[in-house]
Amino acid sequence: MNFEKSQRIKKLPPYLFVELDRKKAEIQARGVDVIDLGIGDPDLPSPDFVVDAMAKAIRNPKNHRYPSSQGSPAFRKAAAGFLKNRFGVEVDADSQVCACIGSKEAIAHFPIAFVEPEDIVLVPSPGYPVYHIGTLFCGGISYFLPLTADNGFLPDLASIPSDVADKARIIWLNYPNNPTSACARDDFFRQVVDFAQTHNIIVCHDAAYSEMCFDGYRAPSFLETPGAMDVGIEFHSLSKTYNMTGWRIGFAAGNPDLVAALKQVKSNVDSGQFEAVEDAAVAALESDQSFVKEMQEIYTRRRDILVEGLKSLGINAMKPKATFYVWITVPDGYTSSSFSSLLLEKAGIVCTPGNGFGEPGEGFVRMALTVPEERMAEVVERLKGVL
Ligand SMILES: *Cc1c(COP(=O)(O)O)cnc(C)c1O
Repeated sequence: MNFEKSQRIKKLPPYLFVELDRKKAEIQARGVDVIDLGIGDPDLPSPDFVVDAMAKAIRNPKNHRYPSSQGSPAFRKAAAGFLKNRFGVEVDADSQVCACIGSKEAIAHFPIAFVEPEDIVLVPSPGYPVYHIGTLFCGGISYFLPLTADNGFLPDLASIPSDVADKARIIWLNYPNNPTSACARDDFFRQVVDFAQTHNIIVCHDAAYSEMCFDGYRAPSFLETPGAMDVGIEFHSLSKTYNMTGWRIGFAAGNPDLVAALKQVKSNVDSGQFEAVEDAAVAALESDQSFVKEMQEIYTRRRDILVEGLKSLGINAMKPKATFYVWITVPDGYTSSSFSSLLLEKAGIVCTPGNGFGEPGEGFVRMALTVPEERMAEVVERLKGVL
C-alpha cells in the first residue's frame, strides 16, 4: 500500500496546540501543578438556561432526524435577530445567514468556494491558524500581512503590492483580534471596504470575540460598515461568548452570494449541526445577554490582576479592551520560545509563544484569562519568583 500523503497535508504547519499539550503533559508528569494559560477555551460552564434548553430539545423527536445543513429557520432567525439587536445590522435570515458547526468549520470550508490552486489569500500574521490552513487545503497561497505594534496590530493595506492585491481572492480579518487582543480603529473597516472594492477581494471577518469586551468598549461588526454587505461575510461563534466551545455552533452572515456559496460547500460536506444544539443556541442568542455581561466582569478582574502584576515586574503587556488574551512583550534577552519555556519549566505556567501564530508574533507570548482570580494571582507570584 502507498499511504503517501497529499501535498496539502504535507505542507501543513504542526498544529500549535498539539505541541503545547505534549510539553504540558511532560511537565505535569513530573508532578508540577501546571497553570494553563495556553488555549483560548473558557474555564467556566455554559449558562444553565442553555443547558436546560438543550435538555428539553434533546427529547424532541423532531431533532433526532437529519438537520438542515444551513441551520434551522429558528436558529437563522435568532442569529439575524442577534445581529440586529447588537449591531443594528439587518440581514435576511433565509438568504444571508448560514449555521456552522463552530465557526472554525466555516472558516476552513469557505475558501473551497472561491480559491483556485495558486490563488492568493491575504492572511494576517500572527493570526488564527485556520485562515492559512483553509488556504492550503485549496492549493492557494497565503500572502501574510504582518500585524505589528507600530500599526496597532492592524494590517497595513497600503503596503500590499498592487499586483498581489489584484490577484488576491480573499482577505481574512479578525477584530477584536486573537492573539494580539487589538481592536479595529474607527476608520479601519471603511478602508477595508475601499480596498476590497478596488481590488475585487472578498472580505472574511472573523468576529469570534465581538462580545468579549471590557471597560464599556463595544466591538463593531464589519457588516455595520457602509458597503460591507457588497464585499463581505462575517463569522460569528457562540463558543467564547457563552462558554460553549464544546457545543460547536456558530454562524456566518453577510453578502447573499457569499453566504449561498458557503451553503453550497457545506451541503456537500456535512449535514449540519444537531438541531437540539441549534435550539439551545437560540436560547443563548435570544437571551437578555446578562450572562455575557457577567463574563465580561469576571474577565476584567482577571485581566487587571495579570496586567498589573506584569507591570509591577517591569513586563510590557497591552491591557486588552477586548478578548480574553493578554499579549505580552517578552523581556530583553528572550525569544517567544525561550520565554515560554522558562515559564513552563521554572514556574509551571503554560502560555503560547507568539511566533506560533506566525513569524511577526516573535517577541511576544499570549496568556489567556482562563483561570480564576486566585490562580491568576498565583501566576503573578510565580512570575516574581523566576524574573
Ligand atoms: C476560538 C476562535 C474561533 C473558533 O471558534 P469556534 O466557533 O469554536 O469554531 C474562530 N476564530 C478565532 C479567532 C478564535 O479564537
